[in-house]
Amino acid sequence: MNKRKVLYNIEVMSFKSFNLSDNMTNALSKLGYHEPSPVQKAVIPKALRGTSLLAQSETGSGKTHSFLIPLIEKIDMNLNRPQALIISPTRELARQTYEFAFAFTRFFPKLKVRLYTSEADVSDNLEGKSVPPQLIIGTPGRLEDLLITKHIFFLGNMKRVVLDEADMLLDMGFFDSIEKIFANLDEPQTMVFSATLKQNLKDELLKFVRSDFEFENDKVMTSSGVKHHLVDIKHSGENPAILSFLNIRKPYLCLIFASTVEKVNSINRFLKENGVQTIYFTGSLDDRSRKKALREIKSNKYSVIVGSDILARGIDIPDITDVISIDLPNDLEFYHHRAGRTGRFGKSGDSWVFYNADSVAGPLALQKEGVKFDYFSLRGDELKPETLGPTEKRKLTHKKELPENEMKDIKIAKALSRTKGVEPGYKKKKKLAIEKVKRKYRRKAIRESVRKQLNKSFKGDED
Ligand code: AMP
Repeated sequence: MNKRKVLYNIEVMSFKSFNLSDNMTNALSKLGYHEPSPVQKAVIPKALRGTSLLAQSETGSGKTHSFLIPLIEKIDMNLNRPQALIISPTRELARQTYEFAFAFTRFFPKLKVRLYTSEADVSDNLEGKSVPPQLIIGTPGRLEDLLITKHIFFLGNMKRVVLDEADMLLDMGFFDSIEKIFANLDEPQTMVFSATLKQNLKDELLKFVRSDFEFENDKVMTSSGVKHHLVDIKHSGENPAILSFLNIRKPYLCLIFASTVEKVNSINRFLKENGVQTIYFTGSLDDRSRKKALREIKSNKYSVIVGSDILARGIDIPDITDVISIDLPNDLEFYHHRAGRTGRFGKSGDSWVFYNADSVAGPLALQKEGVKFDYFSLRGDELKPETLGPTEKRKLTHKKELPENEMKDIKIAKALSRTKGVEPGYKKKKKLAIEKVKRKYRRKAIRESVRKQLNKSFKGDED
């Protein structure tokens, strides 16, 4: 097995260099895709050659087309049998992929694509099954039910399978269903896409898929256009801080993240009460509301979207200019997913993390990880650049602890310098008294250090 791992492919290529059909080249140019993204450069040529692969790739990096283009290109349009399968972790992602795939039917009139998720009833899924689709997109449970339990199609021509957002598929416990689907296929070419390629994921995957090629480090694409900012909101509450921020910044399209559904609801309510048109999206919405919310989000009717981390993964909302994290997710990896909602395809974007003295741990951890933040403070109606970040501020507030005796003496000196009533020069007197105590202790410290050094050299003479 010739297994290779590619870390970022910098070759300049155009879609033409992939030797795609005229139909596909024409479709891509009409759809506005002129230059392949890094993941597309790495994946498309391999996928066209039938190589099974694992690719680390985030939403927004062009990964959907890195598998759609070769899948569609390889479909035999004259054969009405399922030939390619895309498994997605969520209904929203599946629908999004379906819509991208469906856009190609304008250029490939014989191409039949179907979406199978719990968005529709099984009875609706079964409609029109006498003309099987060539490309199937769906979520694991429904796919298992239709393709394996009900066995609605002959699967002997299913030659290619994509697992999209595989880390999410694993986290959501879908690998059992997927394994069952694979057990009914005849060693298809598999393309696995995942935001991370952690070892446990690979171990689980390699139980039932092959991989002859790995593509890693796709981050440059998603994050190079994003500027990261830390905003100290001091003691303004979170909701008023968001409101002031929106009034000052007036973002074109802003996505506000909070870690809990309760917080998302509270932000949404507060902004609405204060005249901001918002739309929100959380995992707790029922199916219909989710669908409606996504449609409205994508229609660009709202310039402020409030959501939980479910929006950070997978959902493609073009043109987001600003991302606000009102708090940070427990799993800091999600910060990168959040920030990656903006600054896509060469555009620039801003990711703002709000914090105050009680919530510095997350920002500090991100800085330690290498995220380069600049600093702002938000007070009232003013958003000001600052030179100090949480680390420096922390150092300033955690002054060096003084020895206990010295503290005691300073307290006594302060008490002694206090007079009845406020006398002129009282503050100066107090300052001088404190200085005197400090000088005493400094002299003591110097004497001790000299004594130690003398002792050392004395011992050294003896040796
Ligand atoms: P993803 O979610 O990673 O598949 O990225 C999807 C977004 O990238 C969609 O808005 C696509 O229309 C867009 N896209 C995909 N490939 C390209 C490309 N080569 N050039 C420009 N935009 C692209």
